[in-house]
This record gives sequence, structure tokens and C-alpha cells, in this order.
Amino acid sequence: MLHPPHSSLQVAAVPPQRVPVRDRDQDAPWHTEAVCRRDEAGLFFAPSKEPTASRLSREEAAKRVCARCPVMVECREHALLQPEPYGVWGGLTAAERRVVLARRRRRDVELQKAARTTGPIAAAG
Ligand code: SF4
Repeated sequence: MLHPPHSSLQVAAVPPQRVPVRDRDQDAPWHTEAVCRRDEAGLFFAPSKEPTASRLSREEAAKRVCARCPVMVECREHALLQPEPYGVWGGLTAAERRVVLARRRRRDVELQKAARTTGPIAAAG
């Protein structure tokens, strides 16, 4: 099972701001290039009862780290596919990932509708 550098699995037991970046999951090819492996500032997960202004500032700082990460796309897709419910992954917050997933679901529904609509035409043609 894949756990990126700042795995949310660590959050349940240890406050995120104190979670060191771990060298785990050697089997994930993109994981070894993750910039956040070297980040120990606790940018990626919210501490409990974090004020909104602090959260926004922390998330923006985390996104800046992601922006210079060579595996941002892989990390983002991993977080979307799991889906990872917490933290900044691949430059997206949890709320932003929910938006992306909702868009993908709507797109899939539209594609299914289109397939049903065009199916008989294609069969007739
Ligand atoms: S994109 Fe961000 S969260 Fe993902 S591995 Fe890179 S630095 Fe870490």
C-alpha cells in the first residue's frame, strides 16, 4: 500500500505539525522524489482547532512546496484515487480534491449518458 511522504495515516496518532517526514514506501517510484520528504514544517496537515487564517496561510505554504515538486501530478492522482480525506496533496487541499472528484463524477455520468444516447445510433450505423 502506498503512503506518500506526509501520509495522513500518521495524523491519527501524532499531531501533524510534529510528524517528521518519513522515508517510507520505497516501492512507490514517485515517492522518492517528493519534495515534502525534506519538509518537516508540518505544512501539510491541520493541527486541531486551527484558526481559518492560519489554515489558509499554511495551505498556501504547502502548495508552494508542491509547486516545485517534480511528482506533483502523481501525488495528486494518488490522493484523488484513494481518496485521501485530509491534508494538502499534489497542490490541492481536501476541499479542492472534493471539487475535482465531484467534477469527475459528473463527467462520468455525462459520458455514460452520451454512450447510451449514441449507442443505438452507432449500432444502427
Ligand atoms: S506534490 Fe506536494 S504533497 Fe505531493 S509529494 Fe510533492 S510536495 Fe509532497
